[in-house]
Amino acid sequence: MEYIDNYIEGKLLAPHTGKYIDNYNPSEGRIYSFIPDSDERDVAAAVSAAQHAFAEWSVMPVEKRSAILLRIADLIDRDLDKFALAESIDNGKPVRLAKALDIPRASANMRFFASGAIHFASEAHVTGNEAVNYTLRTPVGVAGCISPWNLPLYLFTWKIAPALAAGCTVVAKPSELTPMTAFLFAQLCIEAGLPKGVLNIVHGLGAKAGQAIIEHPDVTAISFTGGTVTGRKIAATAAPMFKKLSLELGGKNPNIVFADCDFEQAVNTSLQSSFSNQGEICLCGSRIFVERGIYQKFTDAFVARTKTLVVGDPLLIDTTTGALVSEAHMNKILSYIELAKQEGGTILTGGHRVTVAGRCAQGYFIEPTVIIGLDHLCRTNQEEIFGPVVTIMPFDTEEEVIRYANSTTYGLSATLWTENLKRAHRIAAHLKSGIIWVNCWLFRDLRTPFGGMKQSGVGREGGLEALRFFTEAKNVCIKL
Ligand code: NAD
Repeated sequence: MEYIDNYIEGKLLAPHTGKYIDNYNPSEGRIYSFIPDSDERDVAAAVSAAQHAFAEWSVMPVEKRSAILLRIADLIDRDLDKFALAESIDNGKPVRLAKALDIPRASANMRFFASGAIHFASEAHVTGNEAVNYTLRTPVGVAGCISPWNLPLYLFTWKIAPALAAGCTVVAKPSELTPMTAFLFAQLCIEAGLPKGVLNIVHGLGAKAGQAIIEHPDVTAISFTGGTVTGRKIAATAAPMFKKLSLELGGKNPNIVFADCDFEQAVNTSLQSSFSNQGEICLCGSRIFVERGIYQKFTDAFVARTKTLVVGDPLLIDTTTGALVSEAHMNKILSYIELAKQEGGTILTGGHRVTVAGRCAQGYFIEPTVIIGLDHLCRTNQEEIFGPVVTIMPFDTEEEVIRYANSTTYGLSATLWTENLKRAHRIAAHLKSGIIWVNCWLFRDLRTPFGGMKQSGVGREGGLEALRFFTEAKNVCIKL
C-alpha cells in the first residue's frame, strides 16, 4: 500500500511523528494508502522553508514565475488520466466527472493565475494637479492554504495558484480524506522545477496539522475553504493575530423555478445542481422552490429524471453518482434523511443506502433522494446536508420565495429559472447570496468574484480579488 509523503523544501518527506493515518477508498470501504500524521514540527519546517524561498520567489520577474506555473499546468494535462483516476479512487466521485471537471479545472486554475499575474498592475491616482498616488502591491509573505475533500485538486489549485502567482510562498494542507492528488501534484512541482520551499504541502489532521498552520506566527495570510464550523474556529485563532483571512464556507442554496422557465432546461440543469458529485458541491441547489402553477409537473419530471441516475462503481463510464467520501459522511446524510421523515417530509424517490454488487459492495453509496412536504424553516431546509438530498417546495409570489430563499444563515449561491428578464434582475438584487445564476448553474468565469455572504464566508476569491488578497497594498503619495 502506498505511503503519501509531505512535500517540504522541495523534498518528499515522512512526518516527524513517524505515524500515518489510514486513507480510505470510499467506493470499496477499505484502506488503500496512508497519510502522514503531521504535527507542528512538520508545519514549522514547512514555514521555515517557505520563508527562505520567499526572498527569491517574491522578487523573481513575474514572467519567470508564470512560466513555471504554466509548466505545472501542462504536466497536469499530460497526466489527466492518472490524476482523474486517483481523484475518483480517493474521493468516490465518478472518474468521468474527475476527467471532465476536476482535473481540467486544476490546470485551468494554474494557467489562469499564471497569466493573470502578468497583467496585474499597480494603480495610480492623480489628485488634481497637486499630487500623484501610486499603489504598490507586494506579496503578503507565507500564505497558508487549506482545502476540503469535495473537489480536492480543483480547490487546492484554486488557492495555491493565485498565492504563488502573486509572489507568495505557500504552506498548504489538503483534506486528510482526499490527499492523493495533492501528493501527485507535489511530484509534478519537482518535475517542473519549482524552486524548493516555494510550495510546501503538509498532510494530516485539521485539528493538528491544519491548526498548526493557522497558529504559526509567520503565516501571514490564511485562505480556507471548508465547513462553517471549522471556519469559525479558524477565524477565532487568526483574528487576534491580525492575519489576512479569506473564508469560503458552507451553503444551503436555493434553486428557484418560475412557471415561465424553459422547462426542459430547468429540469435537466436542476438535476445536475442537485446531484452532481453526489451533491457534495458547496454550490449545489439543495432547496428547490417551484412556482405553484408548475409544481406538480416539475416534481413529476424531476423525480422521473432522478430515477434514471446510475449509482454505482465510480470507475464505470455509465455511473452518474459515485460513493460518498466517507462512512461518517454517509451516516450523517442518512441521519438527515431520517430527520426529514420525522419533520413530516415525504420521500418521493431514494432515501436509502445502496449496496453495489462486486468490488464496491462495502462502499458508501446513497440513492439520490427527493423530499417534499417540508416547511422552509425546518432543520432539513436550514442545515447543510452536503449529499444527494434535495427538497422541493411550492411558492406563490416573488416576495414569498425571496423570503424563503433568504431564510437560512447561509448565503453562498442561488439559481433562478425564468424567461422574464425584468423579474430575474429584480430577484437577483434581493437575494442574499454571493453568486447568482440565471438560467444556468456552475457556469464559471474565473475572473468573477467568488464567495458567500452571511455564514457562507468572508471575502471573495477569483480573478483580481484573489491576487489582491495575496498582496499588501502600499500607497505612495508624491506632492507635485
Ligand atoms: P472541513 O471544515 O471539515 O475541512 C476543511 C479543511 O480544513 C480540511 O483540510 C481539514 O483538515 C481542515 N481543518 C479542519 N479543522 C481545522 C482547524 N482547526 N484548523 C485548520 N484546518 C482545519 O470541511 P470539509 O468537510 O472538508 O468540506 C466540506 C465543507 O466545505 C462543506 O461545508 C462545504 O460547503 C464547504 N465548501 C465550501 C466551498 C466554497 O467555496 N464556499 C467549496 C467547497 C466546499
